[in-house]
Amino acid sequence: MRTGQINVQTENIFPIIKKFLYSDHEIFLRELVSNAVDASQKLKVLSSNGEFKGDLGDLKVEVILDPAAKTLTIRDAGIGMTADEIDKYINQIAFSGAEEFVQKYSGKEGAEQIIGHFGLGFYSAFMVAEKVQIQTLSKNKGAQAVQWESTGTTDYTITDIKKKSRGTDIILFITEESIEFIEKARIEGILNKYCKFLPIPVFFGNKTEYIDSPSGEKDENGKIKREAIEVPNQINNPQPAWTKAPVDLSDDDYNSFYRELYPMTFESPLFHIHLNVDYPFNLTGILYFPKIKENVEVQRNKINLYSNQVFITDSVAEIVPEFLTLLHGVIDSPDIPLNVSRSYLQSDGNVKKISAHITKKVADKLAEMFKKDRKDFESKWADLQVFVQYGMLSEDKFAEKAKAFSLFKNTEDTCFTLDEYREKVSALQTDKDGKLILLYTNNKEEQFAFIKKAKDRGYDVLHLDGPLVSHWLPKLEQSNENISFVRVDSDSLDKLIRKSDEIPSKMSKEEEDKIKPLFEATINKEKYTVQLESMNEDDAPIIITQPEFIRRMMEQQKLGGGNGFYGAFPEMFTMTVNTNHPKIHGLLNKSEIDQTTGVKQLTDLALLAQGLLKGEALNSFIERNINELA
Ligand code: ADP
Repeated sequence: MRTGQINVQTENIFPIIKKFLYSDHEIFLRELVSNAVDASQKLKVLSSNGEFKGDLGDLKVEVILDPAAKTLTIRDAGIGMTADEIDKYINQIAFSGAEEFVQKYSGKEGAEQIIGHFGLGFYSAFMVAEKVQIQTLSKNKGAQAVQWESTGTTDYTITDIKKKSRGTDIILFITEESIEFIEKARIEGILNKYCKFLPIPVFFGNKTEYIDSPSGEKDENGKIKREAIEVPNQINNPQPAWTKAPVDLSDDDYNSFYRELYPMTFESPLFHIHLNVDYPFNLTGILYFPKIKENVEVQRNKINLYSNQVFITDSVAEIVPEFLTLLHGVIDSPDIPLNVSRSYLQSDGNVKKISAHITKKVADKLAEMFKKDRKDFESKWADLQVFVQYGMLSEDKFAEKAKAFSLFKNTEDTCFTLDEYREKVSALQTDKDGKLILLYTNNKEEQFAFIKKAKDRGYDVLHLDGPLVSHWLPKLEQSNENISFVRVDSDSLDKLIRKSDEIPSKMSKEEEDKIKPLFEATINKEKYTVQLESMNEDDAPIIITQPEFIRRMMEQQKLGGGNGFYGAFPEMFTMTVNTNHPKIHGLLNKSEIDQTTGVKQLTDLALLAQGLLKGEALNSFIERNINELA
């Protein structure tokens, strides 16, 4: 046996590892299992290029729990280490063996598989263990097995030991504080999270199960001896779909991989994109498009980031543009730096390229689907629109491409691109100033009367719903001069699309001055602004509308859009009285009492048409009308 001092820059590295290296202590298992996987992969590479001539055997990684001894062992049958290698790779902390290996073998097949940049990976064991042993037998012919041991100070011992099987056992003596890590369910949970798709089979066994000794050996009482056995269970799928070639995968394969990723999700995805880049950065993965309806937030943060099949995080917000966080699936890239701060990530060159690449792929996929089978694309639009609108709102490059496939559906359920729609309506819906007015409804039932009036006049009405419309329309108006979206019930038709020929009023100025106060006295002035307008005789006598800009403000407030006016917009409506309507005109010649009842009745009917007559007001309206029946 010999002893020595771990060569580190600062004496205090261990407390730092324990407290600050990873806020999440469970990471130690990811690090150790990845090391075991790397050691196995390295052996495969050496074997395939002829440098290792022995039998590869069963290359698996085992995680073994011994609750009685309070140990957790990570066992591999990989390349192992000689005492010299332990000196070099373990005792000299700043040294990264993987880097040296990769330099030597870069460009050769399989080499990229083993680049694992986990920094102080092995030493993260001391976050949970008071003592760590490495028992290892190198792949080299005639190698001497050795044990390294340290209790988390800078002192270590190295001893020659007997170990028959090639490879490494890392044995952790778990501290009282971290006792959770000898619980089977806890370890199973961690393995499931980080190791589910590691490229080498990983087994998890539990030493606490006992069986009758298979040899039939008896104890001093003549009873058959009981033996502890491991009950290993493979916990990973070493060849997840994203590592395969798209030509080898059917739609069913993609769907069943989706289930593998999200066992608790019942909805199937709409479609997927298989990513596969090897220059100028490495990236593989599968992204799925979920059906997105109203609830945008619950869909988020489902993309899992992997590095060489090791799970890193499910929070990819710094790596992909925000709208892409609505997608599901897996991104695997060894080129995303791991142990850096989140804000640094965003400015990393590779991360920027990756993000731009994914955005482009997603836009290209949608464009291709639109081109290839427009009918099918249209049938998916309801589930896609939130995603596309979100993308257009937040990424200009995406918005540019999305012009070709972002759709507008009218009330007859026909879909148009913006260009197609412009073409269709420009003749009739251009106002006197040359502005193209696009009418829309978000609710065909509630705005029925307005839609009908517009259509009677030959106008077309779009049906736009979804949570982002109130943000998306201003964006479209900004980038397309000379178009303006207005909800069909936001003003009287003549005002929505102003044509040059104004309809003359049948009332004189004096008559108008008599009419207006009658309505102002009837309605709540804080909420309703009364205005007079000379419309067609056959238009409604009164219409109640909500100005487009007020409604947009209110909708944006609801979505939490920071427009700086939070809470500043009370619900406001405009009540437009049609001075040319015979019933309004007729009020002029009535007695005061009849005027009051007439105004009340007309007002209530207009409110009723907009669904604004409620509670007591609605009740007294009904009672009044019943009483008036003959
Ligand atoms: P990294 O993996 O980033 O190099 P680690 O501290 O996790 O950093 O490991 C340091 C080195 O120790 C590895 O590069 C490798 O050479 C060696 N090593 C660790 N675990 C094993 C193992 N199970 N088998 C063989 N070598 C190992």
